[in-house]
Amino acid sequence: MCFRVRQAAWLAMMMVALASAPSCATAATAASSHASTHAKDASKKNTSAKAKATTNKAANKTPSVPNNQRLADLCKRLAPRLPGVSVNDCKNTALVASSAQSREGVPMLVKEQAAAKGKPELRILMLGGIHGDEPTASAIVFQWMKLLQTPAAQGFHWKIAPVVNPDGMLAAKQKRTNAKGVDLNRNFPTPNWKTEAPRYWVKETGSDPRRFPGTTPLSEPESRWVNDQIERFKPNVVISIHAPFGVLDFDGPVEPPQKFGRLMFNPVGVYPGSLGNYVGLHKNLPVITIELPNSQTMPPDAEVQRIWLDMLTWIRGHVPPTSSKKAPAASKASSKASSKASTKKSAASAAASHK
Ligand SMILES: [Zn+2]
Repeated sequence: MCFRVRQAAWLAMMMVALASAPSCATAATAASSHASTHAKDASKKNTSAKAKATTNKAANKTPSVPNNQRLADLCKRLAPRLPGVSVNDCKNTALVASSAQSREGVPMLVKEQAAAKGKPELRILMLGGIHGDEPTASAIVFQWMKLLQTPAAQGFHWKIAPVVNPDGMLAAKQKRTNAKGVDLNRNFPTPNWKTEAPRYWVKETGSDPRRFPGTTPLSEPESRWVNDQIERFKPNVVISIHAPFGVLDFDGPVEPPQKFGRLMFNPVGVYPGSLGNYVGLHKNLPVITIELPNSQTMPPDAEVQRIWLDMLTWIRGHVPPTSSKKAPAASKASSKASSKASTKKSAASAAASHK
């Protein structure tokens, strides 16, 4: 029994608030049951549910398994699902297996890298694999993370989450939705979500289970986590990678990029609850959506590099460094209008795409 178990038991017996509870799982259980008897005496309001939430929170803050072990364990599971990514590639990323977890309890992987000293700082949030059946959309983020030490990447402050939907990615048969069957890219709190998201799902998708938006916005731990990253990290630009429509999409306050590598700008639409809709149009931040041409097969290495370099060049030249209110070039309205106009053009090819 670890020190924290004894510490927690002592604390429980002293009827101190459960906020000081333990870190290891066994301790959490022991303290929870031990403390509950006393807690009832102290305050009926101190429910076991609340206590459990508190102990879990405490446990998450000080995981009993070191990060490198948690990362290694997860990399062993993830690498076989990601084309061109070895277990060592995954382990060498220095990702943190964070305390935040997917619905199935898989740690959310994240890496943060500050800009080189003396460089102007632009903050980039990069999200891979929000749809679990698009493994190239995670794999390319692992490839790009190898380039973070190159000069092109040095001027930026990075926050990178290569596998936003680990449950979908790790499922026996990979799936778009998370473990609860929610399309995370329809679960963001766009205005009028409560009416628009369910209506769109029923009327426009025929209640396609792959596009179920959930019952409330941010109902899922994964979408809540992404939202938290946006609130806390305050990115200047968000990059989200998908597949397999082979286009470049954009939402937000500046003129869209026209071409990264072979990917041409061709919007695939704006949907209730989507990240692009929420962050690009309603939080007024640039959101780049990369749609790789194949969800299972990686583009050639040269193309992976070209997309990366074109993207960083565009960001450097077009993304405003501080408030998006100072954004130059196209207004939000004109950007949205051009997006809508182009949507018609791409509607046939996108058909049931819906990034
Ligand atoms: Zn997708």
